[in-house]
Amino acid sequence: MDVRAEVAAALTKPFGAVLADRMILTEYRDQQWSPPRVMPSHTLPLSPGAHALHYGSACFEGLKAHRWDDGSLHIFRLADHIERLVHSADLVGLPVPDPATVEAMILEIVAACSEWAPTFPGSLYIRPTLIGNEPSIGKASAPSSTALFYVLLSPVGDYFQGGARPLSILLEDGYHRTTPHFGATKAGANYVQALGLTMRARKQWGVDQVVFAPRGDVQETGAANFLLLCPDRLLTRHLDATFLHGVTRDSLLHIARDAGLEVEERAISPAEVVEWVKDGEAALSGTAAVLAGVGTLVYQGTRHQVGTGQIGATTTRLRQALVSIQRGQAEDRYGWLRRVPG
Ligand SMILES: *Cc1c(COP(=O)(O)O)cnc(C)c1O
Repeated sequence: MDVRAEVAAALTKPFGAVLADRMILTEYRDQQWSPPRVMPSHTLPLSPGAHALHYGSACFEGLKAHRWDDGSLHIFRLADHIERLVHSADLVGLPVPDPATVEAMILEIVAACSEWAPTFPGSLYIRPTLIGNEPSIGKASAPSSTALFYVLLSPVGDYFQGGARPLSILLEDGYHRTTPHFGATKAGANYVQALGLTMRARKQWGVDQVVFAPRGDVQETGAANFLLLCPDRLLTRHLDATFLHGVTRDSLLHIARDAGLEVEERAISPAEVVEWVKDGEAALSGTAAVLAGVGTLVYQGTRHQVGTGQIGATTTRLRQALVSIQRGQAEDRYGWLRRVPG
């Protein structure tokens, strides 16, 4: 299959299911990173005893390159994602190449694989990945002395194939999504912690996602931030180490403020969410889906309709404003986009 056909096929498959045929990789050993090289992305030589497989020394990032109508490619908030990667690497005890090297690697592989980037509403999802690959199963309480850092690419379509639909969520106040001091890292281990509870909620309540509210502190879902909206206000939790500081969340807050909404960042209780959704909106934000409206909320065994049960007008308006910047149809007044050379 030629690349164009592979990209077209990718857009009919689930998000992230197809990888571009190449990645860029650098290896850390003897205290230094090797010169990055572009190589096939279909296999990775890895010892079955690799540290990441046993002790979870792994973290990642997720960002996108957007194709404008003139054909050029633009990466959204590259520096912010690299900064977050550096933070995640520190918490999982892994070395990470310096930000300038990471940036150069991402730009190089996106430029080399530019034909894998679909046109709007598709985009090229970029997955920088860092793993501890030391082949030793005796290092449960010691960091991996070697590491691999590589950047995968995946052509993705609109997150909601066949059009956006309102999501249903369970507000879960009995459990943490992950251990509190790991909340702000994109460490692989965080996601499995939320997964079992999310699977159970899907089975029991038929919901799409779980919003975790440990001890009545409404935080976020397994992989997206949680926002409450109405025509003139936006309410979301204040930043701290317990949950992921989404770049999409931050972008939407900027856009909302500039559109004249009052933005509040503070602690939120489940009771307040239930009250808010009587006539307000709720939505999930993240790179993959941008901003996804919630239509139904389940809390302590009761189903609540969110607003009209459809995707809210403010949700749609803010999503549209952000997407317009990403695809080059509205001015990038915040300097968020980085043009890919070539
Ligand atoms: C990645 C992620 C988000 C969204 O972050 P973005 O930078 O907006 O993509 C939110 N919550 C969790 C747990 C995440 O892993």
